Amino acid sequence: MKRLDSVYTPTVEERVDWHLEDGIDTLYACPDAWALRHRFIHRETSEVRRARCDRWSCLYCGPRKVDMWRQVIAEAEPTLHIVLTKAGKTMEEASRALTTWVQALRRGSKGRGRGHVGARPAFQIEYLGVSEEHQNFEENGFHWHLLVKGADYIPHEHLVACWKPATKGRASVVWVSAIHNTRAIGYATKYLTKDITRAKKGHKTVVRDGLVLCVGAGGGVDGE
Ligand SMILES: [Zn+2]
Repeated sequence: MKRLDSVYTPTVEERVDWHLEDGIDTLYACPDAWALRHRFIHRETSEVRRARCDRWSCLYCGPRKVDMWRQVIAEAEPTLHIVLTKAGKTMEEASRALTTWVQALRRGSKGRGRGHVGARPAFQIEYLGVSEEHQNFEENGFHWHLLVKGADYIPHEHLVACWKPATKGRASVVWVSAIHNTRAIGYATKYLTKDITRAKKGHKTVVRDGLVLCVGAGGGVDGE
């Protein structure tokens, strides 16, 4: 029999060091220090679960959160993909503009005067929004990508008519496209959630009106 002394066997310590370096540890468990020290035990079944930090930026928890959100979104079956430009320079400003816009759309309008100029019906929409920083942030700030359900069609002019005052006249450009099939949902969802795991400071999550997910600078992770 041939002896194998010439093949070097790394020590446990060395292997731990290597795996910490190549990040393989994040495949199996959340590497957060608090999470590693905690376990949850189900009172009735005695099932043991590792604790998780549940941060978007975590290599273990982040992708799992994205998957979870993708499923939630697909199940919601959104019908429209809407982009609202120039929402604001801060998350607060952008969120306020979005809320105002949604309220205006849900309220509808009788229009002005006897001729009811600018009249529009009320659209009882629900939405999921992801904020995105424009490449030229100085000029354009954040814009919103929205997946909307509750309406198969909203005339473009109504979307614009509500977005202009919501941004105090800053913005007038709105893009809208219909989501026809599950593949389109998959695409839109993938697009909307692609940046969430990207290592970036200042992720923000807000859940409001059912489903709102904001990702952008300023603020830590909250909501759930
Ligand atoms: Zn984690």
